[in-house]
Amino acid sequence: MITQANKTHIDKIDIDDELIKIIDEKSKNVISLIQKNIEKYSSVAFANSLGAEDMVLIDLIQKNKLSVEAFSIDTGRLPPETYNLIQKVEDKYQFKIKLYFPDHQKVESYVNTNGINAFYSSVDLRKSCCAIRKVEPLNRALKDKKVWITGMRQEQSQTRFALKEEEFDETHQSQKLNPLSTWSELEVWAYIKINDVPYNTLHDQFYPSIGCAPCTRAISAGEDIRAGRWWWEDPQNKECGLHVK
Ligand code: SF4
Repeated sequence: MITQANKTHIDKIDIDDELIKIIDEKSKNVISLIQKNIEKYSSVAFANSLGAEDMVLIDLIQKNKLSVEAFSIDTGRLPPETYNLIQKVEDKYQFKIKLYFPDHQKVESYVNTNGINAFYSSVDLRKSCCAIRKVEPLNRALKDKKVWITGMRQEQSQTRFALKEEEFDETHQSQKLNPLSTWSELEVWAYIKINDVPYNTLHDQFYPSIGCAPCTRAISAGEDIRAGRWWWEDPQNKECGLHVK
């Protein structure tokens, strides 16, 4: 049986015909969901957080030439492995991921008032760092977008167990698609292995979920997939404000 920790190790995944069939069917569903929304709405954006799920989506979007604008948020605190991945993806698929950056005046004010690593001090300070470095750039990226796509899955954490494939996002007044909501972690990694999709090398060091460098750590066997994100906080707090209900 694949354990939580070594699930992320791509070499250990056994791919059989049944798994290939499941992934093929689920991939077709993803393409059809995105296509349906492209036909119905003119502007569809993909918030690419550069995780394993996002790599599956990038591969499906690029191979099927779906008219979707992919963007990522560079918080200024990403690990070097994530920057390397951006370059790898751009080289492989021959397109540019649009990058959004935080407002430099807000970052300066926050850091000069609270300290360079103030997010460890309290949930409020952590959330205000995420608000400045992630949420405000996301809001700008989604302005005028009628649909946005995420790589979120139900089994990622207790805050996501009821995640739907399609929902209305009140905050951004847009349709929100979570095409991989019912995919298992095994299916995500099997897709990556079958299709030779690039991925963040930190995943091979037991980082199943990767965000900013100071707020992400490796996990141990049996831990929740997102246990390494803001690990010093209560699990109920573990969202950064990007996916507000
Ligand atoms: Fe700041 Fe950490 Fe949130 Fe990144 S994840 S924006 S460093 S609090």
